Amino acid sequence: MITIPPSPSAPPPPRSADEPASLIDTSKMSEGQRAALELTEAARETVRGSTFASDLFMGAFTPPQAFPAQSLEDRDQGDAFLKSLERLLHNNVDADEIDRTGEIPDGVIRELARLGAFGIKISPEYGGLGLSQTNYCRAAMVLGGVCGNLTALLSAHQSIGVPQPLILFGTDEQKAKYLPRVARGEISAFALTEAGVGSDPATMQTYAEPTEDGQEFILNGEKLWCTNGTRAGLLVVMAKTPAKQVRGKAKDQVTAFIVETNWPGVTVTHRCRFMGLKALYNAVIRFDNVRVPRENILLAEGKGLRVALTTLNTGRLTLPAACVGMAKRCLKYSRRWASDRAQWGAPIGKHAAIADLIARMAANTFAMESMTLMAASRVDRDKHADIRLEAAMCKLWGTERAWEIVNDALQIRGGRGYETAGSLQERGEEAVPLERFLRDCRINTIFEGSSEIMRLFIAREALDPHLKVSAAALDSRLPLFKRFQAAVRAAAFYSRWYPKQWIGGGKTEDRSQKSEVRGQKSEAGGQKSEVRGQKSAVRRHKVLVRHLRYVARTSRRLARSLFHAMLRHGPKLERQQLLLGRFVDIGAELFAMTATCLRADHLMASEPKHGQGSDVLEMADYFCQASRLRIEEKFRGVRHNTDGASYRLAQRVLESSRRFSLEPDSVP
Ligand SMILES: Cc1cc2nc3c(=O)[nH]c(=O)nc-3n(C[C@H](O)[C@H](O)[C@H](O)COP(=O)(O)OP(=O)(O)OC[C@H]3O[C@@H](n4cnc5c(N)ncnc54)[C@H](O)[C@@H]3O)c2cc1C
Repeated sequence: MITIPPSPSAPPPPRSADEPASLIDTSKMSEGQRAALELTEAARETVRGSTFASDLFMGAFTPPQAFPAQSLEDRDQGDAFLKSLERLLHNNVDADEIDRTGEIPDGVIRELARLGAFGIKISPEYGGLGLSQTNYCRAAMVLGGVCGNLTALLSAHQSIGVPQPLILFGTDEQKAKYLPRVARGEISAFALTEAGVGSDPATMQTYAEPTEDGQEFILNGEKLWCTNGTRAGLLVVMAKTPAKQVRGKAKDQVTAFIVETNWPGVTVTHRCRFMGLKALYNAVIRFDNVRVPRENILLAEGKGLRVALTTLNTGRLTLPAACVGMAKRCLKYSRRWASDRAQWGAPIGKHAAIADLIARMAANTFAMESMTLMAASRVDRDKHADIRLEAAMCKLWGTERAWEIVNDALQIRGGRGYETAGSLQERGEEAVPLERFLRDCRINTIFEGSSEIMRLFIAREALDPHLKVSAAALDSRLPLFKRFQAAVRAAAFYSRWYPKQWIGGGKTEDRSQKSEVRGQKSEAGGQKSEVRGQKSAVRRHKVLVRHLRYVARTSRRLARSLFHAMLRHGPKLERQQLLLGRFVDIGAELFAMTATCLRADHLMASEPKHGQGSDVLEMADYFCQASRLRIEEKFRGVRHNTDGASYRLAQRVLESSRRFSLEPDSVP
């Protein structure tokens, strides 16, 4: 019997033994591609229903009723710690000195430990502060505005190091043994990367062989770029363990272990140095026949990649939070300089080119903060909330905007932006550290999931509901009758879903806004309440209502475009990285617009100083206008682009047998 899936993102029916493990047809891929994809597919978190972010790609706008603001009680709990942290940073930390010497003074690390900064989210039962994700993000904002090195130390320790996976997956015994140690300030680190393993864990060489009695594993291999590695007492190490037979085939297994660095066989062989984050304690670590007890496995044997990916899902929120702190500092320096510095007869902030940079900086910072707080609040309301997409969008959008912001701030300060803080101070000017910020900030679009990988990750999740409905129909690995059944099922689903994505469309913006309301009213019950949600969330300002309606309308346009791309490219869509990247960027902009409008509305409603006509409204309005222009540009790029030409040219440039005309030794 053919059944229509109740909702696009409903869980898939259980897969039978003769069905492939992955929804994506890997039969035409190279061995390396297949291995990488199957490993990461197997480690994906199973979906627990749709989320606001995933709905955006399916044409459903399901924002929270109002901005999920932090409760006063939670805020008070965080404030006490944040005040001490700010005091410590102000009185005891010289971030430029840390940058210059490449070392964090032991006294600063001790003081941070005394404040509880190594156990911010760890429950008091284990000696931590037990603060919420929102307060943790607020701490990252404070740190990010002062010192990238301290941010990285604390974030690598507790966003991805031992505490986070232990809180998520640890047994009671593991928690009782290790959480008090890390909460007290024993530094930890996360070791996944290897020389051959960057974004693709399938090629991992570090190997853990079980002993004959199965009670221990013998760990061998080398990890690269392990932040905190030179000072860490504890590591989470991802290693391959013996392959398992799945559906008659040997499948690689990755397992996560807690490893103590004072165990025999663990050696730091090199401290890595970088263009920024000069005081990062980043190591190459070797493991030579290290005996790891079985009880130090996190979650279960073979679940290491799940541990790593899930840890990173929430851990990823720290980077955009830190970027908010840095962006606010950039804005502070830029405001002052643009007002004080006069050239060509006026303060430079009065020249339109500089004014534009300031407006963009302020609005993007507000949006970045709104997105991060909105995602953090979801974790606080439900510890097991599926925030994969929201966190990835915050990371992708936030780190890319932060790079733009620091670059703009440097431009606004002209030559002084390029000068080091120390040099400025030596010649009697204020030690503004934009040059350091720029160096420290560059890595943010690379680690914890590079922008390219984030786009692929988000695209995979965005396509998931479609893959569940239609992938089987196109999967050449399946028998014909199964593909036929799947095709009929998909046709039934899309014949209902697709027309809905057109309702509300109109030729002019005004018309489409009117029909938008009609369209939404005529939609299914769930979407009616969505409209009610919008109305109650945005009670006051037509401006914000208009922008949110644009988001709802554009979400349907995005869903349609994604669907058309699926029809055009079939299973090969997965290879259209630039096209998918545009869809992802549109989704991230829609998320940013929603968070911005809801937060602006919340601030105006809750704080009288943000009343009608306030700067918050102006900022949100400007942000949304600019975001809409970026979105329209991305839609244009879906149809008109040079993707094919750029790929062909790149492949020619890369051909090793060709002598390329721009090589340095081929000067005419
Ligand atoms: C300062 C620093 C600190 C770090 N800290 C840690 C740590 O604590 N623990 C840890 O385990 N690792 C850490 N890393 C490693 C970091 O996470 C990796 O650098 C990152 O995962 C990228 O890997 P890679 O540099 O090998 O790049 P590669 O994977 O080799 O990628 C090179 C480029 O190709 C792009 N690319 C790769 N695959 C694809 C694809 N399929 N499609 C499109 N583009 C693609 C990437 O985005 C990147 O731009 C750190 C790195 C640095 C530099």
